[in-house]
Amino acid sequence: MKVLKIDHIGIAVKDLSESLNFYSEILGLEAIGTEVVPEQKVKVAFLPCGDSEIELLESTVPDGPINKFIEKRGEGIQHIALRVDNIDEALKILKEKGIRLIDEKPRYGAGGARIAFLHPRATKGVLIELTEREKQD
Ligand code: ZN
Repeated sequence: MKVLKIDHIGIAVKDLSESLNFYSEILGLEAIGTEVVPEQKVKVAFLPCGDSEIELLESTVPDGPINKFIEKRGEGIQHIALRVDNIDEALKILKEKGIRLIDEKPRYGAGGARIAFLHPRATKGVLIELTEREKQD
């Protein structure tokens, strides 16, 4: 199992277009397309930032995971995504080591990535997403 880099940082927001005003117009980051991911009940925008990206996530339903997060903790950093070379192998190894997983199998993530979340109880309170992308840039 090899962690290659911080793929992106996921930020929960109430209003994606309003947040893009700040990240794009004020900070000057360029959003490379928005996408609705029905599997996760989110609308996302990715903003490349050096070697990694910022992912803004807005809930598409009132009781989605992002809105639940915002209700509890307010807008802010929701997860950190680590890119791995082989997500199937990584999940197998973590499971063998007794690490609690939210996703035992990879699922579809924005941009065609394969992703899986680890349980925050197993990671000192941080929701960690593993991500594998076909293009390892
Ligand atoms: Zn993410």
